[in-house]
Amino acid sequence: MDPAATKSAATKSTTIESATVARALQTGHRTVATGNSPRKNRLLASLVYPKHCPLCRSEFENESTLNNLCTGCRISIVQNQAGYCTSCGRSGMHASGTGCVACAREKNRFDGVICLGPHRGFLREAIVRMKHAGQQSLTDALGSLIAEQMAKQLAGQIPEFLLPLPMHWKRRLLRGDGASMILAKATCRASGIPLNRHALFCTRRTKKQSTLSVTGRQKNVKGAYDVRDARSVKGKRVAIVDDTMTSGASVNEAATVLKRAGAKSVFAIVAARAV
Ligand SMILES: [Zn+2]
Ligand SMILES: [Zn+2]
Repeated sequence: MDPAATKSAATKSTTIESATVARALQTGHRTVATGNSPRKNRLLASLVYPKHCPLCRSEFENESTLNNLCTGCRISIVQNQAGYCTSCGRSGMHASGTGCVACAREKNRFDGVICLGPHRGFLREAIVRMKHAGQQSLTDALGSLIAEQMAKQLAGQIPEFLLPLPMHWKRRLLRGDGASMILAKATCRASGIPLNRHALFCTRRTKKQSTLSVTGRQKNVKGAYDVRDARSVKGKRVAIVDDTMTSGASVNEAATVLKRAGAKSVFAIVAARAV
């Protein structure tokens, strides 16, 4: 990794840790019989037993904290998720085994999409907040929900490693890890699937996709990704991770180069699908 990028990532990591420690010290109040100082016990306890739901910030009261979330937020996200097309991730479309009416017209190179639902409500808010420093608890909640969905949807064909949709090294140098990397790391932590951050890379800087039309987005990312070493993906089941899929142009381009390099299957893992 570039030394400057390492320094940038280390600085960001320190900032996140500092924010987490500061918040934990403000909120921690439980005690643990570990022989540590009371201050350290408060810190450890508040990290092990988070006091607040990271999404709605309501206080946990002896309730289950499955996926790190309060019951209400978990139900909201799971209900929002119901009934999406597993070929393209869109909701509200009539889907059959081969896709829905929308993706039947597309030439997608990825084999399917794992997502938590449409880009709205609590999920949209979680994705926006996930990109800010000090949100590891929330990011872990999303990673845990995605790992759960992946196990259900891809039983028997779980990816051998996850690849974050790459960002150009100059952009990463300036901003640190992007949303795709943050979510990929959280999903790997929750699922135990290895992260491969180097196999896929960005060959040139691209414009922001959100400023472009669908055709503009496809042109913008054409040839923008490549595989560093085809041997690392040949014959492998892989999945590309990004925070939100809108037109699908970026993931489709990345899937195209992975398939060309011999990947056996390429799934897209996104927190949300915006249509
Ligand atoms: Zn909540
Ligand atoms: Zn579809």
